[in-house]
Amino acid sequence: MKFCKNVKLPCAEVLFIMRCVDDHCQKDFGYEITITSGSDSAHSTPQSRHYIGYAFDFRLKDLDGDSSSISPQDFDIAKAIIASIHKKERVPNGTIFVIEPNHIHCQYNGIP
Ligand SMILES: [Zn+2]
Repeated sequence: MKFCKNVKLPCAEVLFIMRCVDDHCQKDFGYEITITSGSDSAHSTPQSRHYIGYAFDFRLKDLDGDSSSISPQDFDIAKAIIASIHKKERVPNGTIFVIEPNHIHCQYNGIP
């Protein structure tokens, strides 16, 4: 697992999820994930769970800059990885993933 510069780490529960996601991506799909955001930077909504340390963003492979978009092929890989993570129950209930144009958003909707 790699980190972009200035990523602020999320809470312990979400760090655990991050580790599970990276482990799953590496073992089952051969991708090391890159964390692009934690509880830092600006996010789409003021209620974003990023701000309370309950979300992180990642990419499956290094892209050329933040503006690069996920290709249709990578979108399908991302969908397959997410389905597989849920099917194998690798992350706690309440973990959701959203495929965004240039990253995958992951948040934990458990307590609080
Ligand atoms: Zn996000």
